[in-house]
Order: sequence, then structure tokens, then C-alpha cells
Amino acid sequence: MLEILAHSGPARLGIWHYTDKKIPTPNFLLNITPLTRRIEHDIYIAPHRTHTSREPLLVHYGTIAGRARIGRFGILPYSGFGFDIPRELAEAGVEETLALAELYPGYGAVVDGGRYPDLREHCARKLSRRALLCIAGGSKLCQRPRLLVEIVTRIREAVKPNTVLYLPGAPPALMPVLAYMGVDLFDSSHAIRAALRGHYLTRHESYPVDRIKELPCSCRVCISGSAERLRNSTNLLVKHNILQLLELVGEIRESLRHRRFIKLLESCATTSPHAMAALRILYREKYTFLEKYTPAIP
Ligand SMILES: [Zn+2]
Repeated sequence: MLEILAHSGPARLGIWHYTDKKIPTPNFLLNITPLTRRIEHDIYIAPHRTHTSREPLLVHYGTIAGRARIGRFGILPYSGFGFDIPRELAEAGVEETLALAELYPGYGAVVDGGRYPDLREHCARKLSRRALLCIAGGSKLCQRPRLLVEIVTRIREAVKPNTVLYLPGAPPALMPVLAYMGVDLFDSSHAIRAALRGHYLTRHESYPVDRIKELPCSCRVCISGSAERLRNSTNLLVKHNILQLLELVGEIRESLRHRRFIKLLESCATTSPHAMAALRILYREKYTFLEKYTPAIP
């Protein structure tokens, strides 16, 4: 469960009590892959068949069709029918996901329902007492700001305040606005995919590594390397991209501690059309949602 230490509107600074660890939030889960095995982080995520000694580890059990054997705590299997699917299929997917979740009441679960906000809300209400919920189709949602805002705010309102919300696949540019909607966990999948495509991430941009002349970053990879070295090492590029995430979530948390979060949110939004669109929709159309978490001025 999440211990909430401070709010800035719906954004939460918290501590997630997971196993015997205290994970500061907002945060990201580091996806364990051959490229990230040596990178240290607060918490890791891996598919259930991965052999790793990394702890604390959150296991993702994949889709129901994968017939995973449920063992330690993790995110339960879900339908995995997809995002842009016909309504009937999305409804059947939600029912499958919920039927399996009912067998494992203490586990994390997936909020399913494709591109249909009412189905997502229905699914979230049925899972509202879980300690951890994962929002399916995160990277697709991040490309559609209106749907993203509609679905995330409806899910946030449908579940308990101290349920940890995890949205996989988010690009760094959207992390502040997602945190503003009450998302607590992201992951490193976007940063890893960007490195595999040869993209060097900064807080505001994504540059093709084969065209950068200098490294505009002082992380431990960049300070001791050169653009040439990064061009020749996917491992180093992955590490730099993940260190960017580390810096970003650290800054989000610090801005929440110092009541400077809105300033950070608005300045980050100017660098991404999707983040700006999501923030505008929140300000213009989700006033009640935002107001609910803003203390009244006496
Ligand atoms: Zn760097």
C-alpha cells in the first residue's frame, strides 16, 4: 500500500511499502533485460519466466493465454486482447481479466478495457481495493492525450487513494502530467526501446545518436564518454537513457516536497505537444477532479 506524504493537486509524493522495502514514489520500475542487468535501482519488474536475483522485484504474469503459474506477488495475467479492438471483444476481455483476478484477491491486477473509458472505469471499480493496479495499453494511451486524461482520471477516482497506479510505456515527457493525474509508477520500457532505435534522450528531446556532436548531459555515462562511444554501445546508451529517468523522477519528488511541482509540470509540458494537450484538457475539462485534491483557501 502507498503511504501518501504530500499532495500537489492529485499528484502524490509517497512511500510504497513493498515486501520489506520502502520505495519512494513517483518512481519507475526498471525492466530487467540483458541490457539492464547491471543497472542498480529502487525496484525492478520482469516477466514471470525471468531468472533474476534482483530485489525488490515485481513480477508481471503476462496474458491469460500464457498460462503462467501464479507464485509470488505480482501483476496478475489479463486478457491481452489489445487496445483498438471492437467493444464486444473489450467487454469479454474485462470479464476474463476480472474472473481471474477474483481468484487472487491479494495480488496486483490490470485495468483492462481497451479504448473504452466506461469499461476501464468498470474494471477499476471491481479492482478498487487492490494495493497495485497496472493500466493496460500505456504506450498507446500516451499517444492520445484526450483518451489518456479521460481513462487515467476515471481510474484514479474509482480506486482507493492508497492504491498504487502503474502506467507502463510512458515517455519521460509525459511523466510529470501523469504524476499530476495520480500515477505513481512508470517503467523504463520507453527509454530502453529508444536506445535500441539509436535515440539519446534528454529531459526534453530525443536525438538520433548517430547525429549528435556533443553530449548535453553530465550523467556518469556522458561525463566519462563521448558521442562516438555512445554510438558504438547500446549498453551505454540504455544506461544514459535510464539515468535521465532517474533524474526526472527524483526532480518530480523533490518538487512535490518543496511545493514547486506545478512549475515543473508546466515547464515540462511546453516541450511535448502530447503533454501540453493533456495538461490543457485537465485544466479546462477536469476542474472538479483537480479541485477535489486542492485544499480550500480559508
Ligand atoms: Zn548522460
